[in-house]
Amino acid sequence: MLIEEVTENVAELVDSLNFAEKVERSLELINRAYKEFGDGLVVANSLGKDSSVVWDLAKRVSPRIRGFIVTTRFKPPETKQFMTEEVSRYPELKVFSNDEQIPDKLYETDPDKCCEILKVKPTRQAVKEMGVGCWVTGLRCTEGRTRTDFKEIEQLDKGLIKLNPILVWYEREVWQYLALNRVRVNPLYAKGYRSLGCWPCTKIVQGADERAGRWIGTSKCGGECGIHTKPLLDYQI
Ligand code: SF4
Repeated sequence: MLIEEVTENVAELVDSLNFAEKVERSLELINRAYKEFGDGLVVANSLGKDSSVVWDLAKRVSPRIRGFIVTTRFKPPETKQFMTEEVSRYPELKVFSNDEQIPDKLYETDPDKCCEILKVKPTRQAVKEMGVGCWVTGLRCTEGRTRTDFKEIEQLDKGLIKLNPILVWYEREVWQYLALNRVRVNPLYAKGYRSLGCWPCTKIVQGADERAGRWIGTSKCGGECGIHTKPLLDYQI
């Protein structure tokens, strides 16, 4: 079983593997998971640069691999346009969202609740509707303060494995892969963004922490929307 393997020292791998070795390792992780889970292996595609790498790697493993996108009413127009283009190119990418009414400016007054309603709920719905046994993410342990403790293979929910195949990649290596393989990326990166999210909660920042521009001015600054930290199964949808 995949979950019983690969518990190496992640921090060590970040510097001990070179770019080519990281690509090989990521492909191998997806390949092994795909052999175990088949169509139950599904990529979570956030339309950011890391997801674009993982999506491309997954397509190299098998063109059959499916994915899901969780979108919200607050995604920037560039991300919505990129989503439309990607879905038309890859019909196996399914889009999930939650249109329920929420208080005005909930992203300012209670961003955790806003993310729970607009992001975590549709992710639970995607996992359930698509029959996901293993979801594949673009998490990287060098992205920011909240991402240092993840593992390449995790199990937060019974019956649901999470695979983080590019966990040990640097930001530079993500761009290296995208450039070398001519992978299309969200046009917002051309404007200077380094981490993408909903427009009210995402700013352009410099510095070591890629995610520092997320939720600036709130208790959630540089943090997480919740899909990687909250249970995704056993909820009423
Ligand atoms: S990122 Fe901001 S706008 Fe988007 S769901 Fe979370 S709090 Fe709401």
